[in-house]
Amino acid sequence: MENCIFCKIAQKEMGRLVYEDDTVAAFDDLNPQAPVHVLLVPKKHIEKLAEVKPDDAPMVGHILEVASAIAEQRGVAGTGYRVVVNNGRAAGQSVDHLHFHLLGGRPLGWPPG
Ligand code: AMP
Repeated sequence: MENCIFCKIAQKEMGRLVYEDDTVAAFDDLNPQAPVHVLLVPKKHIEKLAEVKPDDAPMVGHILEVASAIAEQRGVAGTGYRVVVNNGRAAGQSVDHLHFHLLGGRPLGWPPG
C-alpha cells in the first residue's frame, strides 16, 4: 500500500530485514523497548489484527512460528520472551500495518502498561 512505512520496509525500499519469506518480513524496531525487539509483519497490507480474515490464518500462524525461530536465534528462547499485537489507538497501535512485536532480553512486567 502506498505511503505505508511497513509495506516499504517489507518490500525492501527502506530499512533492513532480518528475515523474509513469501508472506512474512521481520526487522528490528527503530525504538527498541528491550534488548531484543523485532517486528514481524505480513508482506500483504493488513491494517490491524481486527482486519485479519479466515484466509489469513495460516499466515498469522506462520508469523508466530517465525517469531519463535527468531527468539531462538537471538538467544532469548531460554529466558523467555513476549509477542505482542497492539490493535487500535487505545492499545498503542501507531502504525496501521499489522505487526507483531517480539520482545525479550530483560524481565517483562505483567500486566503490561
Ligand atoms: P505500535 O505502537 O504497536 O504500532 O508499534 C509500532 C512500532 O514501530 C514502534 O515500536 C516503533 O518504534 C516502530 N517503528 C516505527 N517506524 C519504524 C521504522 N521505520 N523502522 C522500524 N520500526 C519502526
